Amino acid sequence: MYTSLNRCVWRLSSLSRRCQSTLVVAEHDNDKLTPITLNAITAAIKVGQDITCLVAGTNCTKVAEQVSMVKGVKKILVAQHDCYKGFLPEELTPLILACQNQFKFTHVCAGASAFGKNLLPRVAAKLDVAAISDVTEIKSQDTFVRTIYAGNALVTVRSSDGIKVFTVRGTAFQAAPMEGGSAVSEQVSPPPPVRASQWVEQSLTKSDRPELTSAKIVVSGGRGLKSRDNFKLLYDLADELNAAVGASRAAVDAGYVPNDMQIGQTGKIVAPELYIAVGISGAIQHLSGMKDSKTIVAINKDPEAPIFQVADYGLVADLFKAVPEMIEALKKK
Ligand code: FAD
Repeated sequence: MYTSLNRCVWRLSSLSRRCQSTLVVAEHDNDKLTPITLNAITAAIKVGQDITCLVAGTNCTKVAEQVSMVKGVKKILVAQHDCYKGFLPEELTPLILACQNQFKFTHVCAGASAFGKNLLPRVAAKLDVAAISDVTEIKSQDTFVRTIYAGNALVTVRSSDGIKVFTVRGTAFQAAPMEGGSAVSEQVSPPPPVRASQWVEQSLTKSDRPELTSAKIVVSGGRGLKSRDNFKLLYDLADELNAAVGASRAAVDAGYVPNDMQIGQTGKIVAPELYIAVGISGAIQHLSGMKDSKTIVAINKDPEAPIFQVADYGLVADLFKAVPEMIEALKKK
């Protein structure tokens, strides 16, 4: 009796997984798929096996080809129109609603990046459902674990909404492999453009260093660096380690570095193999963006700095002495 009941429950849960269909909204630049989409696909697979990816852009055929290689994706919806220039949520929302209307997805998700966090709350509002942000674990089709209090507490939420709309914390899910996929592509006719806002331009910092959110090593600086010029020390260290350079919000607010380098609750979320925090105190809002790093090294002259509580290796030292010494030692290697 016990065995057959168990079997029955198992069967029902696998049937229910089969009935779930998730739309993953792909993030890209019309040329390359942004890695966080691969993490979102892994999260979507935990909900159910029927995964559709929406690739919307001005000229995004190349991206659709990349998505078609991803294992686990069944179908790709491709929408191309000049109104998707800049990926404005005002234009993408009606497209997602049109797809939802046609295919009746049970779940809609995207990475919890600036793109996903801009877009999905708007989609959720239009669908009159709650947006579940920054999901770190999928417990079942309606139960999600997400972060609160700047990433320092986890809460489990069960949604009774008909459609679950959520963003996925990239560092909490493995990237889906870009091989073994065989998704079919389908062109979608874009709904009439809204033209409520217009994308004018973007100026991106050009760098030969690895991209911050996917780098294996991140060297990060805080207010302790004291000036924009002193950040050169960190760039030199990063070059020796083939690392990306990040910063605390205090360093950004002080104008030492541009704000696309900010790590934390209101910045980027990173989880590299090695995170080196230099002259950063370790405020919870900063930890929220880097505490999942595999190994954390902190350099701070204050032995009481909270960063040492999360650091695997701590160096109590003046950074202006320690960092040049590190660079010299690395150069000799
Ligand atoms: P400080 O706290 O001033 O620390 C500087 C550190 O440098 C000190 O520990 C000091 O001992 C050390 N130091 C100084 N000189 C030297 C030296 N010569 N050698 C070695 N060490 C030295 N912060 C973020 O980082 N990211 C966010 O996304 C973010 N979002 C926020 C959101 C909200 C809503 C709020 C309220 C705050 C947010 N903050 C964020 C700000 C956060 O609370 C802290 O103010 C900020 O992280 C502090 O940055 P810091 O560690 O560089 O500066």
